[in-house]
Amino acid sequence: VNARTPFIAGNWKMNLDHLQSIAFVQKLAWSLKDSKHDYASVEAAVFPPFTDLRSVQTLIDADKLELSLGAQDLSDNDSGAYTGDISGAFLARLDVKYVIVGHSERRTIHGETDEVVASKVAAAHRNGLVPVLCVGETAEDLEKHGPSAVPVAQLRAALASIPGTAEIVVAYEPVWAIGSGQAATPDQAEQVCAALRETLVEVLGADAAAATRILYGGSVKSGNIAAFMREPNVDGALVGGASLDIPEFASIVRFQH
Ligand code: PEP
Repeated sequence: VNARTPFIAGNWKMNLDHLQSIAFVQKLAWSLKDSKHDYASVEAAVFPPFTDLRSVQTLIDADKLELSLGAQDLSDNDSGAYTGDISGAFLARLDVKYVIVGHSERRTIHGETDEVVASKVAAAHRNGLVPVLCVGETAEDLEKHGPSAVPVAQLRAALASIPGTAEIVVAYEPVWAIGSGQAATPDQAEQVCAALRETLVEVLGADAAAATRILYGGSVKSGNIAAFMREPNVDGALVGGASLDIPEFASIVRFQH
């Protein structure tokens, strides 16, 4: 099995309110449609803030846009007394397909542990969502433990409770490369993504591992995407800053050209 459709995911983080999101997605759709033949084999997705999801979903649905929808986080509970949290069940009702879990900003700013991340992965699957699980080492981890140890340990912890048949996307995001303008080299990304795939083979089995998309994230731009995509174990990118620039994000989606 090897049907890993290239996946380009735009993580907007806490940018664009719901009115801005409508204009943005309309323009992005036009920009992508202009050259439809160039990216037919690529899945493009946007991950707006929660308050934009309904607007963006309505637009995708009404205009039949070839754009997948994701959220940036979810609660590990499905309902109840959890003030301020958002349930995976609510996201599924909005036709959200993907949900980022364990982004380094959530791990750092909100203190999410590997245990919380594992429980969010389970909540995503329970609600029919595909988790985009983020793993990655800090500069200090890199110095102390080398490139793969921390991301591999984070992946193992997050997979502890998932059934081998549930779809997952893994995003390798070295923390030192996020928002720094200092991307990993394609070689560095490949080395860690290959180690992550080996771990998937061990935990989920060879077929599931071969079908799982592994993304690289950290200062991806139109100028470096093609080199990452040439690596055998890199199946796409999670894009932060550059996903807020329409021509830039559109050229990342069209990386083959
Ligand atoms: C991210 O935060 O997921 C990310 C990859 O950010 P940037 O592209 O801005 O480095």
